[in-house]
Amino acid sequence: MDWKKQYRKAITFSYDDGIEQDLPLLQILRDYGLKGTFNLNTGLDYNHGTWQYGDLCVHRLNLEEHKKDYAGQEIAVHGRLHQNLTELSVAEIQEELGQDAAEITRIFGTRPVGMAYAYGVYQERVLEEVRKLGLRYGRGVVSTHRFDLQADLLQFQPTCHHDDPQLFQLAEQFLNSDPTEPQIFYIWGHSYELEGKNHWDYLKRFCEKISGREDVFYGTNREVLLGV
Ligand SMILES: [Zn+2]
Repeated sequence: MDWKKQYRKAITFSYDDGIEQDLPLLQILRDYGLKGTFNLNTGLDYNHGTWQYGDLCVHRLNLEEHKKDYAGQEIAVHGRLHQNLTELSVAEIQEELGQDAAEITRIFGTRPVGMAYAYGVYQERVLEEVRKLGLRYGRGVVSTHRFDLQADLLQFQPTCHHDDPQLFQLAEQFLNSDPTEPQIFYIWGHSYELEGKNHWDYLKRFCEKISGREDVFYGTNREVLLGV
């Protein structure tokens, strides 16, 4: 659906890496009727790609066991092994992205149409391969603090990270605005940050604030960026 026919404001979330804490995050999004996109590394699992975030040992989910948990949300590419794409050969980029897209299609039954760049980095030859794979948007990590539509969706940048000191101020500005052109509030992050920083209540307060507005469309990245 093209939300712009009915709305001038849309909110979407983007969460990376398919971490254990996606489960409580998914529950919060469901509770508040919010939507987003989860960018997953299908070559990693509970015991592979583990690392330490402060006191928290970060584990990825065994995705096959959690298909239903992600229901209603979009699944997108984040690289099979979470590699820095700018350090790979063209053949390696094709493998890293192509195999992730194929595995997502196999596990979730839907072919992904977008991605988030691991570490937020890319270069022209990466974009070329992303295009060839038929992915239609790619997200970086540079906060724009803006809501305008962006022309180059393969180099899309978020409004802000969920830990941004201006998060609530931006929400206020967005919710109170009456724009003449379509606007998107795009928030990204990692669910382990919510656990590691004990920010669950903070996120719930944010979701409480932005949810349930009749003049806002709540959709996945695909719905909001591509209108499909
Ligand atoms: Zn990542």
